[in-house]
Amino acid sequence: MNLNELAGVGPKTLILLNKLGIYNLNDLISYYPFRYNILKRSNLTVLNQDDNIIIDGIIESRPNLFFFGKKKDKMNFKLNVGNMLLSIIIFNRGYLKNKLLPGKYITVIGKYDKFHSTVIANDIRLSKLPDIPQIEPIYHANYTISSNKIHKYILSALSNLSNADNYLPEIFENKYNLINKTNAISIVHNPTEINSLKNALYRLKYEELFLFMLKINYLKLNNNFSFGLKRIVSKTQVDDFINKLPFKLTTDQIKCVDDIYHDLIDEKRMNRLIQGDVGSGKTIVAVIAMYINFLSGYQSAMMAPTEILATQHYENMKKLFADYNINVELLTGKLKIKEKKKIYEKLFNNEIDIIIGTHALFTDDVIYKNLGLVITDEQHRFGVNQRASLKNKGLVPDILYMSATPIPRTYALTIYGDMAISSIKTMPNGRKPVITYLKSDNEITEVLNMMLNELKQKHQIYVIAPLIEESDKINLENIVELYNKMNRAFGKFYKVGMLHGKMSTEEKDEVMIAFEKNEIQILVSTTVIEVGVDVKNATMMVIFDSYRFGLSAIHQLRGRVGRNSLQSYCILMSNRNTERLKILTQTNDGFKISEEDFKLRGSGDLFGVKQSGDMNFKLANLKNDYDILLKAKDDSDYYLKNIDLYNDSIANKLKEMIYNSNNLD
Ligand code: ADP
Ligand code: MG
Repeated sequence: MNLNELAGVGPKTLILLNKLGIYNLNDLISYYPFRYNILKRSNLTVLNQDDNIIIDGIIESRPNLFFFGKKKDKMNFKLNVGNMLLSIIIFNRGYLKNKLLPGKYITVIGKYDKFHSTVIANDIRLSKLPDIPQIEPIYHANYTISSNKIHKYILSALSNLSNADNYLPEIFENKYNLINKTNAISIVHNPTEINSLKNALYRLKYEELFLFMLKINYLKLNNNFSFGLKRIVSKTQVDDFINKLPFKLTTDQIKCVDDIYHDLIDEKRMNRLIQGDVGSGKTIVAVIAMYINFLSGYQSAMMAPTEILATQHYENMKKLFADYNINVELLTGKLKIKEKKKIYEKLFNNEIDIIIGTHALFTDDVIYKNLGLVITDEQHRFGVNQRASLKNKGLVPDILYMSATPIPRTYALTIYGDMAISSIKTMPNGRKPVITYLKSDNEITEVLNMMLNELKQKHQIYVIAPLIEESDKINLENIVELYNKMNRAFGKFYKVGMLHGKMSTEEKDEVMIAFEKNEIQILVSTTVIEVGVDVKNATMMVIFDSYRFGLSAIHQLRGRVGRNSLQSYCILMSNRNTERLKILTQTNDGFKISEEDFKLRGSGDLFGVKQSGDMNFKLANLKNDYDILLKAKDDSDYYLKNIDLYNDSIANKLKEMIYNSNNLD
């Protein structure tokens, strides 16, 4: 059955659903709620002034409706809740008036004004609350399609679908006594009580993590057999290159280069991750890797997640390789078709030694003559599938990942289980560590003065507005409000810019470039500012509501300042959870902070503010589900070792999946 055959799904709705990434019934039923409302009748006697309230009762009086302002209205009426009459006030629901008839049972959700026996309602439901608490799934929605609508379509899809697509072998369903997939999905969308909901969520998360670990374990096992390129490179030549660099490598950088050198001259394929804090100097290590690769006669491709980063790398490398006979080019989606074609041609004819770019580097049109090394920067292992796609092109280049997210060793061994890892733990000399202060919201005047002080020294500032998961609208209002505030405080003498996820890539790039050129002095931004962006003149970052972030996420954010010898500052504004945030004022060691995060909140926000690539799970969250991940690791390991013993339909699906990893996801 197709999506458009569902009741109520016409061409328009179809487009809206597509926008949410829903293209078929399976997508629809695995569009899971991101949270749940528990609707439980409040007990008036224990509520305090201004508490949240959910109450049902019988409408006692016809609502009065007033209009004011532009398209605004206010309605009030009395609700009989059994032992008393409550006054209900609700704004902008005038359209409900004709349904709110005296005698009708309704449910009101809002804030309780105990002194005046009044409820300021934010929602009215035209039905009575059942006696047992109701669990209401809430879906990520947008302006044009509501959570309620999505729920309706899902229920209709569920009733039209006999079996959900299952990938979990029966032995593990039995081992943990898990409910079957179809039931689990049905419960997740239509929960009746907490325990079964928990079981259902657990079941679905386990399956996701099992598949994830199966892929990783497969790669790990398989890597031993995968032969790569043979190279002969003189170490002296590499050392000469290193000695001519404008600075001396740190001990950790030297160790990384050593690891890479040995990987590269070894016939086994390299699959290595370099992890190190922002600013620890990973790029130069990548540069040396590319030089070694060049010496052995192969092409290198270095992929960055954004055009800005790619361009930054490109300019940097052109300089570093200027004295060598090495051809460096840039390939991004932005290039005109003609320019792209020219680059494709040169790549195919081996006239380019090093190509820097975005995902555009690995589209079908690109054919490398002899690609020997692929480096991906600042991406959390989107490599699993990409590696497979290289394989399908008949290439076996060595692979190097760079990540600015230091994670605890035990954890790394799980999710990066198939890779070798090198770490850069110390910062290059001459860099002053960022000084971090914790301030409460009523110290804002002091903070504004500190900002002014930096501006007067001609430095630039990032101001970060937190992301609130639930609503795009609130986020936008938040950042606009912050932007206005900054403009009121500094707009007269300084230029304030704004950057957020609702802007197009071009708009974002434009603002970012203006900031790089110091045409903007204060950049108010959500966390969309990319990891790795390098504006050396930015010396201060102010993060509002910082309690909303994980420690590692903040640490990653503040890495965007302190990128040269100037003293830089990070100011954490928060009225809550300040105890947890204190460690950030005490250390700049990303590994220490990630250990702390790990202790405090499972795996914490180890991946900073966003997960990407293979780590995009629908339900599972590396933050909270570490225990499930560990089980999935052992189980998938066991399963892989015995996979030939299984011959049922699930085993066959899994085999096909891992042998032909192109179809993963
Ligand atoms: P990241 O690890 O975040 O990618 P970069 O490689 O961009 O960090 O390095 C940050 C800055 O430090 C760059 O300007 C780079 O030139 C400089 N740098 C790197 N290594 C050293 C070193 N050993 N000594 C001095 N400066 C260095
Ligand atoms: Mg970098």
